[in-house]
This record gives sequence, structure tokens and C-alpha cells, in this order.
Amino acid sequence: MKSENVLIIFSILVLAVLLMNIFNGMETPDAKALKYSDFMHQIRTGNVVTATIVGNTMIEGKFLDGKAYRTNIPPNNPNLVNSLRKHEVQITFVPDAGMPWYISLLIHWGPFIFIFVIWLLLMKRMQGAGRLFSIGKSRAQRADPAQRKITFEDVAGVDECKDELVEIIEFLKDPTKFRKLGGRIPKGVLMSGPPGTGKTLLAKAVAGEAEVPFYSISGSDFVEMFVGVGASRVRDLFEEGRKNSPCILFIDEIDAVGRSRGTGLGSGNDEREQTLNQLLVEMDGFDAMEGIIVVAATNRPDVLDPALLRPGRFDRQIYVSLPDIKGREAILGIHSRKVVQEEGIDFSIIAKGTPGFSGADLKNLVNEAALWAARQNKSALGLKDFEDARDRILMGPERHSMVMSEKEKLSTAYHEAGHALVAILTSKSDPVHKVTIVPRGRALGVTSFLPENDNRAYDTDYLSSRVTIAMGGRAAEEIIFDEITTGASNDIQQATTTVRSMICRYGMNESIGPIALDTDNQQHVFGRDFLKDREYGEKTASQVDHEMRKLLTMHYQKAKKLLQDHIDVLHATAKMLMEEETVDGQQISDLLAQES
Ligand code: ADP
Ligand code: ZN
Repeated sequence: MKSENVLIIFSILVLAVLLMNIFNGMETPDAKALKYSDFMHQIRTGNVVTATIVGNTMIEGKFLDGKAYRTNIPPNNPNLVNSLRKHEVQITFVPDAGMPWYISLLIHWGPFIFIFVIWLLLMKRMQGAGRLFSIGKSRAQRADPAQRKITFEDVAGVDECKDELVEIIEFLKDPTKFRKLGGRIPKGVLMSGPPGTGKTLLAKAVAGEAEVPFYSISGSDFVEMFVGVGASRVRDLFEEGRKNSPCILFIDEIDAVGRSRGTGLGSGNDEREQTLNQLLVEMDGFDAMEGIIVVAATNRPDVLDPALLRPGRFDRQIYVSLPDIKGREAILGIHSRKVVQEEGIDFSIIAKGTPGFSGADLKNLVNEAALWAARQNKSALGLKDFEDARDRILMGPERHSMVMSEKEKLSTAYHEAGHALVAILTSKSDPVHKVTIVPRGRALGVTSFLPENDNRAYDTDYLSSRVTIAMGGRAAEEIIFDEITTGASNDIQQATTTVRSMICRYGMNESIGPIALDTDNQQHVFGRDFLKDREYGEKTASQVDHEMRKLLTMHYQKAKKLLQDHIDVLHATAKMLMEEETVDGQQISDLLAQES
């Protein structure tokens, strides 16, 4: 039986006994309760045969006719015994109420027990089920070693993440080797990415590959109603880890504890801050060479307290993105190993039709297909079953929010192709690394660059090229669809901020001149800086507005012209994106080179 059930039954028993006690008194069921004066009268008339004096407070006994009686008596009354003796009543003394020990225990302790039980029950209500007797324990779960080991074989579509984790596996396998070599090993790895992309799975696979224990706990388990509980759970978790090192401690949903301190709405969440502080203390407290690797997962890396990301804490960050077309094909392959299927199903067809699906979504798809086929008494799954399952998932009520419609996918393809093409055609830009229309975070697609140098002083040309590139997405959409979607709003913001900085901070505008109108201590959050107190007059402000508009329009026209001049390559790039979802910068350069 579960501990909480025992508790409930126990408290009901206590209540019942208490109630019986109150209503029944200590009465022998058929004894007649007498007034003291009546009792004295009965003695005088010689009607009383026996009297048992219980404690100092009560007399029970029998009358001549055999009937039982009881009455309460005044304490310290020597006359009573005398008059009993005078009328030859058989007297017995019983030291205390003849109640069993447990009843007296209950009478004395009942109220306390009762209050305690109520308190426990209330606490349980606040914390969700099943944690009563483990308050303060880490409740970390050790992965069952009897279960089949999870290895990298079970994870697909995240090859880059695997590469980054190989080193950690080597370390966990033999920490002493690393100790001798003196290499620097991260203590903490933060895995971020959309839900269901396999962050937990990857962490387990690392433990499986290294053959070390895996302890997991969720950030939301740390956050309790009671101050101090979360912190002590963190302590316990790390203690457990030390005892069993080398091992992996996995903290899911770390954002539940790790949100920036002092920013929570209606904040003053001392408990969370204490927990977070304890986590930081523990992270700093162990030596990286002890063989403990803390892996944390979140889908909101943006809200994390920067203190968590400092060196010596979660300083290794891995982004686990939604799988691209090849990744999806491989993931489908993994999960369909467990179902009976026809020979030679081409999963690339299903992979093509499932942009935006996460690993978990694909697992679900295979499961759906199997259930459906079973209901129709099929002996093996065919391609059609998988496609039907996909359609049901896409069109059913649980439509995945990140799943793109075909039209969205097309406009995203042109949008990203626009960015990439403009970037390649603009000499001062960073080289284009790759373009993808696999949704990532809130963006539907991403064009990523390979900056050659991280810390250079940006020159005018470079900043200008960034503005042109930002405009490329929207320009492409306008050329092709003659309509503009909200997908470009982020680009416009970025372009506006850059242009404003060029004019107002870096003095890069000729008609405004080399003057810093915005100073560094002004916060540069878009939209807010316009509301801030200005340190310059109305005339300058409107001049700035005018210059900004002029520049932005100029860059937009420039982007549009570049794309129109290379419209065939734009089409070809978008087509390639539709087919492969991810395209290298080099591939686009090749298309440009072939252009007639
Ligand atoms: P997350 O922790 O990122 O939310 P999980 O690791 O819990 O995601 O993934 C849930 C399940 O989805 C996994 O147990 C696994 O079966 C499946 N899955 C997710 N990503 C992958 C992947 N890349 N390869 C294979 N299976 C995956
Ligand atoms: Zn864009």
C-alpha cells in the first residue's frame, strides 16, 4: 500500500475513535447515569450493593435489583466513603478510569495527532501526490540498470550534438585518464531546443555509451511550496552523484528553477531563488575531475539566469534542433524497427511530408500507424499506413503548432532564399553557412553565417550589408507573392536597430554628423528607446527619422534589385530548400556560378 493511503486510513481511525470517545463518554452501555444527589439518596435507602470508585471522579456499581448505574462524584470527599461503608456497600477502588492505554493515549495526544495529520494532508495537497515522506529528498530517479541500455544507436538526426558529446563520454569512461592529462572538461552541459527533440534521450544515451549511472530529476520537482525544500533536494542530488561517480545528473526543465532572479512576475519567489543559489553553490563546489557531469535541458534558454551559464557551470551549450529531412528519415527508421512492416518502405517520402515534426512527433506517428493497422487486422505496416497516420496527426485536433502548411513552407523557402542570396551577392557580408526552413524556436527558418572574425570593429560597409540582408527576406516575398507576411517583422526590427545605431551612436551618417545622440547607458530595446528622454531637440529627432527612413528604403530597394537580377537563382534556391530543407551556402554559390 502506498504511504499516503496508510496515512489516510490512519487519520480516519483516529477521528473515529475520538468521536466515539466524545459521544459515548466512558459509559458502560446500559448503566444508568445518576445525579449525585439521587445517588446519595439511593445509598441512604440502602439500595446500592456495589460501588467501584474509578479514579477520583466517578462511581460505577449495581443496585439491589441488579441494574447498573454510574455517577460523577466531587473530588476529595472522604464523607462519601464513610457513608458507603455505613450502608455496607461493597467498595472497590480502580486507580484511573478503566480505559485501555490506547484510549487514554488518544485522549491526551489525539488533538495533536489530529492536527499533525491535517497538516500533512494539506501539505500533500499542495505538493501533488506521492511525495509525503520524501520532503527534502532529491527524488532523483536512477535509471533502471535492468532496462535495455540506451545508446547513440537510438538517437538520430542530431549528429552535431553527438559529436560534441563524444568527449564527455570519453571522460566519463575513464576520468583518471583525463585527470592525468589535465584536460579541461565541462562540469555542466546545457541542452536547449524545442520539446520532443530528444534532449533527455541524448543525455541517457551519453550515460549508456559511457556505462555510468543516470540520475534524472525535473526542475519543477525542485520548486515546492516550502522554502528550503528545493535547496535540500539539490544538495541530496549532488550527494547522490558524488557517491556514485562517475555519473550523469540530468535536470529536466531547468528553467523552472533557473529563471533570471528577480524577474518573475509577481515575484518574490524566495524558494526558487534559494534553490537556484544552492544549485550554483553545488556546481561550483565539485571538482570537474570528480567525474560528475550535470546535464540540463530547457526549451527556454532565453529566460535562464546568466549566472548559470558562467564558466565552471553550464558552460557547454548544445542546441538540439528539430530534425531536418534526413534526420526525420533516420528517426522514422529507428522507431519503426519495433513494428512489423512491409519490405523496403521508403521513409524519405514520409520524412518529406513532415516538416516541423520533432523526434517525439515521429515516434507518435509510427505508433499511430501501428495502432491503426492493428485495428484493421493488417499483418504488416505499409507506406500508406504511415501516410495516413501523418494526415491524421496533421489534420486531427492535435495539430502541432510548429508544423508548417505547404504554403507557409513555400513562403519561408523564398524568404530564407532571399536572405541567403542577398548575403552572397553582397561582398562585405559574412559567408553564408547554411540556410534552413526547419523551424527553430519561433523562427520559421534560419539563415546562418560563418563570421570570419568575432570581435572586429564593424565598418560602415559591413553594417550596411547586414541591413540589406535583413531586407532580403521580405523583398523576396514581395517579388514572388506580391504580399508581405508577418514573418519578416523580426528582420525589419533588426534592420531598424542597426540603422539607428549607425546614425545615432557611431556617427556614420553624413548629414547628422559624427555625434553620439544615443549614449550607451540608454537601453537599446527596440521601441523603447524612442520613448526615452532624448538628449537632443525636436529638429534633430525629425532629421534622424528622415535619415533612417531614407536608408531603410534604400536598402530595401537594393535587396529587391539584387534578387530581381538573379531571379532564376532565387527560384532554384527556394526549390532546393523545398526539397532538402537545408542548403549550404556553397550550393547557392554554385547555382550563381552556373547562371547564364
Ligand atoms: P526532450 O527531452 O527534448 O523533450 P525526449 O528525449 O523526451 O525529448 O524525447 C521523447 C521521445 O521521442 C524519446 O524518448 C524518443 O523515443 C523520441 N525521440 C525524440 N528525439 C529523437 C531522436 N532524435 N531520435 C530518436 N528518437 C527520438
Ligand atoms: Zn527573415
